[in-house]
Amino acid sequence: MRFHLDRPLQGLDVLPCKIWDAHLHIWDANAFSEFEKWADVYGVQRYTGIAAPDVKSALEQRGKANKFSFALYLPIDAFAHHDTKKLLTAVEEARKYNYDMVKMWFGPRFLDFSNASTPFAISLPEFDPVFTRIEDYELPIDIHVADPDIWYTRKYLNVKRYRTKRNAIDEFITVLGRHPRLRAISVHFGSLPEPENLPLLASLLDNYSNLYIDTASTKWIVRELGRETQRVRKFIVKYQKRILFASDISVGWGDKAESYYATRYWTQRLFWETAVKNTALPFADEDNEKGLTFINGLNLPPRVLENLYWKNALHFFQ
Ligand SMILES: [Zn+2]
Repeated sequence: MRFHLDRPLQGLDVLPCKIWDAHLHIWDANAFSEFEKWADVYGVQRYTGIAAPDVKSALEQRGKANKFSFALYLPIDAFAHHDTKKLLTAVEEARKYNYDMVKMWFGPRFLDFSNASTPFAISLPEFDPVFTRIEDYELPIDIHVADPDIWYTRKYLNVKRYRTKRNAIDEFITVLGRHPRLRAISVHFGSLPEPENLPLLASLLDNYSNLYIDTASTKWIVRELGRETQRVRKFIVKYQKRILFASDISVGWGDKAESYYATRYWTQRLFWETAVKNTALPFADEDNEKGLTFINGLNLPPRVLENLYWKNALHFFQ
């Protein structure tokens, strides 16, 4: 089976419930209608949109407010430069503009994007007042803690600058320990979708009841979780109330192929809902040294899909 844009639901059965995409980037409100058209095709009816205040208000003016929860990106340069004041101002802005969540991104590359000159850790004391304020305002966080394991063996060889992946996870654990009321979605399966990392992820979910994870981004998730389908299926069934469906799709950023939205949603739905074996990922995965990435479906039961696709996000955001 191959993906075809003119048969976008090929290989998929009837959807058991609506889908809430809990992690979507909207950079330009004008690009939303094209995205929405494809989201509808796949049954994706609600979204948690990471969007700037002007984009958020443009979508609200177009009558889309009831389809969205919104997250505000906290400035990555302020984290890189340990700028507590700037971060607190951004948290105030999130409250002022009625955001439902704040987003933070700590892919180690952010230190280069921001020309960081001082050592970084998520758990630095300079950030503690920021997490305290977020906790006081009962704003949940959407947090990207670390990158794929393979990037640490290829891109992030300067451990002093980038830290190890385990360092980053441990710093996040420290923050969770200090802020027990902080509700968090740790994106990309907690940055730990590699099957070898699942015991660590399980211990985090067991120890921190306010911690959730999402299923963004498509190729990282499908490549890694698809390596050990039996074990991963058991993990997901066990933690089915703590996992939110998410794409990490970027709307209105750069030139994207016509099939961009459809291929991501098709791939994820095929992966969660069916038992396909070795179906080619319908877009490039430059992280896969072995060449092609294949979709090996998990064939989750409908009641589990209902939690991942809809109920967990509904409970989290309402
Ligand atoms: Zn993202």
